Amino acid sequence: MPLAFHTDMPPAMLDDAPEARMLREAGIEVRGERCGSEDETIERAAGADAILNGLVPITARVLEALPGLKVVARYGVGVDNVDLQAATRCGVAIVHVPDYCVEEVSNQAFAFLLGWARQVPRWTEMLRAGRWGYDHIGAMRSVHGQTLGVIGLGRIGAATARKGAAFGMEVLGFDPGLGDDDLRARGAEPCTLEALLARSDYVSLHAPLLPATHHLIGAAELARMKPGAFLINTSRGPLVDEKALIDALQRGELAGAGLDVFETEPLPDDSPLRGMDQVLLSPHMGAQSPLATAKLRRSIAEEVTRALRGEWPLHVANPEVRANARLLA
Ligand code: NAD
Repeated sequence: MPLAFHTDMPPAMLDDAPEARMLREAGIEVRGERCGSEDETIERAAGADAILNGLVPITARVLEALPGLKVVARYGVGVDNVDLQAATRCGVAIVHVPDYCVEEVSNQAFAFLLGWARQVPRWTEMLRAGRWGYDHIGAMRSVHGQTLGVIGLGRIGAATARKGAAFGMEVLGFDPGLGDDDLRARGAEPCTLEALLARSDYVSLHAPLLPATHHLIGAAELARMKPGAFLINTSRGPLVDEKALIDALQRGELAGAGLDVFETEPLPDDSPLRGMDQVLLSPHMGAQSPLATAKLRRSIAEEVTRALRGEWPLHVANPEVRANARLLA
């Protein structure tokens, strides 16, 4: 019987998990344990044909130590905790679920945008404190007629652009992976990064974390942004130089930010971001909703079942592995 090992879920949780039930019904044994180190992952996943993976790093050492491993299924869109090159070298297909939370993450970007423009957290705080007043009217901002710059026009960026247009915004787009016609088809006016930063009232990041996108928004880019602009990051924390962002916010160059992701997660207790009332925060939960979670779990079970039957999964993050994929051997 093939074995699927969950690197992030202890047995008690796994027993109730719908994806484990689906896998068992497909004749796959499922085991799991929260793995706190490379050594734990290697020891506990020994003999696994498949790994179900949340956030535990799947490094070259882990991949090289598991000679029977055919597939790693990552719960989510990003695969930046997996060494893709090493996986390809070892013949391991890395499966992800790129389409389960497109509406949720783009909604999270808009929750920040609208929450800040309408000053929802501050009004709530005022009324909770037993007051009725007009203190924050000066901080309120328009949405329609304003310019939204979208960086990365893939699935989530394109949904964000569509939502911006529905709110009557002018939408600019920067994505070096797409041609101008593709950007227009996704509802964005093609732009250089510099022009987008200089023209946008709201900038929303939807590029993946890659070596080339690390600190894509640093001090120089923040300085190019319109005074009074609002920055939204629901993609990955290291896309933004957080220290430079904090400096720009403290100097008042940037009016605010909406952040679901951070350079260090959990966000350190002493992060100045926690104390800034022009910054809206959430703990990397942009993908969450009951519908998205159900779709994610179902997709993970379906993809692992496909792979362990020797069929090519729908979403392989390292398609070049096909030439030497163990799951096809
Ligand atoms: P996608 O692959 O569909 O789109 C990413 C786009 O970014 C592509 O079009 C690509 O060409 C573009 N891109 C690459 N390099 C770029 C650069 N230097 N500048 C601008 N654009 C660049 O991905 P997606 O489904 O839209 O997701 C985007 C990101 O959102 C993911 O990589 C993931 O890190 C993040 N995400 C976060 C959450 C969350 O919970 N907050 C959930 C899901 C995804």
